[in-house]
Amino acid sequence: MTHTMRVAQVEQFGRPLVLKDIDIPTPGAGQILVRTEACGVCHTDLHAAAGDWPLKPALPFTPGHEGIGIVTALGAGVTAVKEGDRVGVPWLYSACGHCEFCLAAQEPVCAGAQFGGYTKNGGFAEYIIADPNYVAHIPAGLAARDAAPLICAGITSYKGLKETQARPGQWVVVSGIGGLGHLAVQYAKAMGLHVCAVDIDDGKLDHAKRLGADAVVNARTGDPAAAVRHITDGGAHGVLITAPSLPAFKQGIAMTRKHGTCVLVGIPPGEFPTPLFEVVANCITIRGSFVGNRQDMAEALAFAADGKVKADIEVQPLSAINAVFERLAKGEVPSRVVLDFTT
Ligand code: NAD
Ligand code: ZN
Ligand code: ZN
Repeated sequence: MTHTMRVAQVEQFGRPLVLKDIDIPTPGAGQILVRTEACGVCHTDLHAAAGDWPLKPALPFTPGHEGIGIVTALGAGVTAVKEGDRVGVPWLYSACGHCEFCLAAQEPVCAGAQFGGYTKNGGFAEYIIADPNYVAHIPAGLAARDAAPLICAGITSYKGLKETQARPGQWVVVSGIGGLGHLAVQYAKAMGLHVCAVDIDDGKLDHAKRLGADAVVNARTGDPAAAVRHITDGGAHGVLITAPSLPAFKQGIAMTRKHGTCVLVGIPPGEFPTPLFEVVANCITIRGSFVGNRQDMAEALAFAADGKVKADIEVQPLSAINAVFERLAKGEVPSRVVLDFTT
């Protein structure tokens, strides 16, 4: 067995990733080693590599938080998984397990939470060190490459839809039909919701229709919020904003029905203006949503195992990562790129 592995690392913010060979890490007590089969490329990886957010990862680091692979070595004391299990190493890499948020299954906001491909090295690598208590358990019958987008884009869209509290028969808007949004459309339909898809790209909107969206609105033309209010007869009960673009946020609030909930999931750097009178007088809830907990993960994966949700993927090798990043930044990736480590 070789002792080195290929990785793509961020050495400097805003610079291309560097492909190199480094030693395969050894799992310490309570850790596992995962041999990567596939890893999705999330828009968050772009934010991470650009140093977009207030909390910045320490350099150098290996991005990737949609890594799926096989457990190949166990550190001392590990009982939660066994060698040969197929697991995913998600954004919620680990949490303290004891704080008020962990006790309430809100561990994504644990102050001690670690984030895969951000504060811990992630899946743009042939091997990943993981915490066995927080890995995703991939249902039998779900291929690694199909599972990869679900452990960030899938769980985040699904949880965000739950956080809108929209009920079957009601309307949701999904703004941004990329990696997250194309899955959100499918989860929403499977949850019995009416879906209005919003994007700035007609190709993405056609795709949303093929995935079952009941209506589509191009945010580049006319007044997209007025169009949504017309289609939904007063605004959507729930709005899920996945677009990594600030204008989408103000528009999303204006698309929300009275007493409805606008869930913010996209994280472009910056702030957006909130029309206070409309939010207050219409009793609108604005809510952030950050991935999901381990039960949300199991539920999000179960939809796919049941055949109700399927990621549309484009498979690429790790060596193509910088070209993939450039296309993702320009909105040119149709849905999700998954890096394949098996060939
Ligand atoms: P993506 O690049 O695959 O998709 C973004 C989509 O938004 C594209 O289809 C693009 O055309 C569309 N878009 C751009 N501007 C728009 C606008 N003004 N109105 C409507 N649509 C617009 O990105 P992704 O991987 O789906 O990630 C989206 C965002 O979600 C990123 O900011 C990412 O960091 C964030 N994210 C958040 C969480 C969380 O837990 N909250 C988890 C994962 C990703
Ligand atoms: Zn992600
Ligand atoms: Zn905690």
